[in-house]
Amino acid sequence: MAKVATRKTLKSAKKPARTKPAKAMAKARKGEAAKVKGATTRAKADAKASHGVLPQWTAAEIEEAFRRFEAANPEPKTELTYVNPFTLLVAVVLSAQATDAGVNKATPALFALADTPEKMAALGEDKVRDLIKTIGLFRTKAKNVVALSEILVHEHGGTVPHSREALEALPGVGRKTANVVLNTAFGEHTIAVDTHIFRVGNRTGLATGATPLEVEEKLERVIPGHYKRHAHHWLILHGRYTCIARKPLCEKCIIADLCKWPAKTVAN
Ligand code: SF4
Repeated sequence: MAKVATRKTLKSAKKPARTKPAKAMAKARKGEAAKVKGATTRAKADAKASHGVLPQWTAAEIEEAFRRFEAANPEPKTELTYVNPFTLLVAVVLSAQATDAGVNKATPALFALADTPEKMAALGEDKVRDLIKTIGLFRTKAKNVVALSEILVHEHGGTVPHSREALEALPGVGRKTANVVLNTAFGEHTIAVDTHIFRVGNRTGLATGATPLEVEEKLERVIPGHYKRHAHHWLILHGRYTCIARKPLCEKCIIADLCKWPAKTVAN
């Protein structure tokens, strides 16, 4: 006698194995399909972008990108913790080849003891080194922080100079650090090109260049004056949280339709 299929036997019947395309379709229907192209495609696209072969942005596109950055975050701020221009300068020096989060873990204890150049110089290299030992390159950084504090005391009346030349003459302070201090402490329209801005400039085609200085100079030329004050922070935050090095979040990007990166997956 032929067996009648019951609900139980139907339920326990093995489902046919899904083929690869069928799985991909099912994932896509659930919105789980990969949103960003593969690593090889991304690497090739980054290489292509860094050779400056991407289409140029028009002035209207640049205006629109920064209009959106401003609308999304009208007053962007540095993520480094500081209480005055001196502690900002020290925090930026400590952040070289380190994350802001890592620097912020160490600086509260340091700034509680020394929030002025006089106090930092008096604290001395050994104590500073001990307080910042969780930060990469802490030995050199401790030496530089104490040395620059002594120079500020002896040559600048204990204040942070509002001058690129004077800032860049301090130990451990390069163009990028000077730009951050000039922008954040003194409100100047400088753009400090760090690893994030360098990548975003090249990858998007907004400002391509082989060196940070080239990218900085191009950004200076193309960004409209009324957006320059905050451009630095908008681009850093965009690179840090959206246009991430390894796997950019193109699907969440507010400038995806303007970006020229060949590997982006959001349709124009
Ligand atoms: S679309 Fe956005 S996240 Fe993707 S590469 Fe371009 S700027 Fe970066």
